[in-house]
Amino acid sequence: MPGGTDQTLAPFLWRAEQLYPETEVVSRTHEGVVRYDYDEYGDRTAQLAGALDDAGYGEGDRIGTFCWNHHRHFETYFGVPGMGAQLHTINPLLPDKHVQYIVENAEDRTLFVDRSFLPKLEGAYADDPSSFESVERYVVMGESVPDTDLEAVAYESFIDGHPTEYDWPDNDADQPAGMCYTSGTTGRPKGVEYTQSMLWSHTMALQQPQGIPLDDDDVVMPVVPMFHVNAWGLPFSATAGAAKHVYPGPQPEPADLARLIEEEGVTVTAGVPTVWLGLMEYVKDNDVDLSALDRLVVGGSAAPEAMIRFFDDRDVELLHAWGMTETSPVGAAAHVKRDLRDADYETRLEKRSKQGLITPGLAFRVVDDDGGEVPWNGEDFGELWVKGPWVTTEYFGRPDANQAEFEDGYLKTGDVVSVDEDGYLKIVDRAKDVIKSGGEWISSQELENELMAHEDVSEAAVVGVPHDRWQERPLALVVPVEGADTGALESSLRDHVLESYPKWWVPDTVVFIDEVPKTATGKFNKQALREEYGDESLVEGRVPDDAAPGS
Ligand code: ADP
Repeated sequence: MPGGTDQTLAPFLWRAEQLYPETEVVSRTHEGVVRYDYDEYGDRTAQLAGALDDAGYGEGDRIGTFCWNHHRHFETYFGVPGMGAQLHTINPLLPDKHVQYIVENAEDRTLFVDRSFLPKLEGAYADDPSSFESVERYVVMGESVPDTDLEAVAYESFIDGHPTEYDWPDNDADQPAGMCYTSGTTGRPKGVEYTQSMLWSHTMALQQPQGIPLDDDDVVMPVVPMFHVNAWGLPFSATAGAAKHVYPGPQPEPADLARLIEEEGVTVTAGVPTVWLGLMEYVKDNDVDLSALDRLVVGGSAAPEAMIRFFDDRDVELLHAWGMTETSPVGAAAHVKRDLRDADYETRLEKRSKQGLITPGLAFRVVDDDGGEVPWNGEDFGELWVKGPWVTTEYFGRPDANQAEFEDGYLKTGDVVSVDEDGYLKIVDRAKDVIKSGGEWISSQELENELMAHEDVSEAAVVGVPHDRWQERPLALVVPVEGADTGALESSLRDHVLESYPKWWVPDTVVFIDEVPKTATGKFNKQALREEYGDESLVEGRVPDDAAPGS
């Protein structure tokens, strides 16, 4: 699989296969733990490419996946783009109407689906078969196909009998290789296509020291789902670095993650904060050996300071990173700059809690409401615009969005950020989540972090609700820790916020809930919260006069 002269994925696998044929790929599946090496991975990937080729697919065809993180899904990662087609990963946790929209919009010709996601897919199909018109076959990841009305074949039968060598084409740099839709937390899902060269350059950027470099002595476990933005590109970069891969499989619980870390000697893992909050609870209550674990990459939502401290105390370096579907996804990481390495712990912690330094290869600006660039003073903020080789320059079939979201070659991210004197980006909020109160802005993310730093709070989300006088006011939805005295907690939280913020930032109302609803990518579902709690009567008249916004 040497590839041509263009920037494509093919040489990464070719090199790993030639130089490290015995390095392992380990996968937790519905059928138990599967273990093989790069040599066998290459053979099976060639078989998959041959099967797709025989089925009539190639350049211009989109092949969808609806799967957890496991070895077969990983085989599609190199197999599909390698043979010239386009790998379209679909998030199975999305509502049916989004899945229908995405499949219809992308015109996927085949869908690879996990056994456990089959009922979900059948449901979406039964509800609106017309949106699945383009799909010619369903391939169920496994040895056999359970009872289903869909036209399905088992993955192992699909690839069986095909040669373990494949005559890989020389793909072009501009050829579409991947695709992922934004999760729709910002409206209708928007398709982002990844060309071969976008995936190549993102892989190379991850591999340099200020990315998430992976080496041949690393054992990499992407917990971040392979169904969303290519598990942050780690399956590609782990192969480029010839690391051992560990895939945690269907619905991994904290106990599964802890066991894999211990048994497989995981050195690097990555995921959204909610995953690590779960692991932290588990580690507190159980005897878990984290000694192999070297680095933990956290992104997708802000990593709370308490989380960084928790892992520091256990000798695990938490690297906070920022990115989005449109940036393939990694765009920044909070590495500590040389000049700051000797600074005291709290100063370094403050930097590491930010979303970080722009990744080499990308450029950015931060633009205020008047179109001017904001100064790098850590105070002023504006919208983050980014551009670079692995940042998309358009949405799939969405001229309306292209008009609004790109300017001067930059992608307008919708993230509101400040930049400090050292160049660290800090996300203040997503533009649509910022609370506009009396002409001033309140950052919902900062308030959430402050509330979550209180010892009696397990999770906290803050949303703006309409207010007659102030336009919007913050409402806090708080999950207390077990056994907390909620009677006293509300006023204690007010005092806690007041220690660091002005009065007008203090949430007018605190509602105690059992769980913060999450989106399909594990983030707080603010849209659902706004729909449920966005009733102005909840905060009506509760802002004291001396707490006027801005005071
Ligand atoms: P969606 O949230 O719609 O699923 P993405 O997965 O593309 O879409 O999410 C990208 C967004 O996630 C970013 O624009 C940003 O708002 C947020 N995000 C990513 N990393 C971080 C981080 N480290 N801290 C805070 N927010 C983050």
